[in-house]
Amino acid sequence: MPSLTKRVAIPSGINTGLTSASSSLMLSLLGNPRSNYSQDCQPVTNARLKAHIKTKHVGPFRATGFDLALESLIAVMADIRAEQPSVFAALSSAGMLCCRFKRGSSSSISNHAWGTAIDLKLDGILDAYGDGKVQFGLTLIAPIFNRHKWFWGATFPKEDGMHFEVSTERCAPGRPRANSFRAVPRLMMPTSCWANARSA
Ligand SMILES: [Zn+2]
Repeated sequence: MPSLTKRVAIPSGINTGLTSASSSLMLSLLGNPRSNYSQDCQPVTNARLKAHIKTKHVGPFRATGFDLALESLIAVMADIRAEQPSVFAALSSAGMLCCRFKRGSSSSISNHAWGTAIDLKLDGILDAYGDGKVQFGLTLIAPIFNRHKWFWGATFPKEDGMHFEVSTERCAPGRPRANSFRAVPRLMMPTSCWANARSA
């Protein structure tokens, strides 16, 4: 088996039926985390969102993020521990909550700003951003994230293999278009949407 950090091609068949949650969707679901952004991490200033930001031990590390995303991440990590123990042992976090724009953007808010995305390292090493390849170990756990309806950033227009985020299908099942959310009160996301994915 290759080293977990060996860079390999992005596997086919990942993120099937899943889409990245757009910032307009996240804004309509959870409100704006703060009023201004840069490329650097800044604190959440939205008090209603802040009340949902928690720090928890998710398995191999502690993470700070949106409470329901953390609960889901704990379930993902439990499956990784059972199915890919060598990857589990090598995992660490490069950050979950971080209020900033998407990398290279001056207008689009990163899903890290709501604490619903996490960047992962293997053996302390970050996957190289945008080189079109991904660490082998990430290919072993991406199907587990996908099963729990977390979208993998490997298929972003610019490959972001370290990045996993709660998908549109998980946080807003059956309502994929941001425009349909206008009437949904903020922070009223149904908990059932976030319930643990059943293992196949
Ligand atoms: Zn990320």
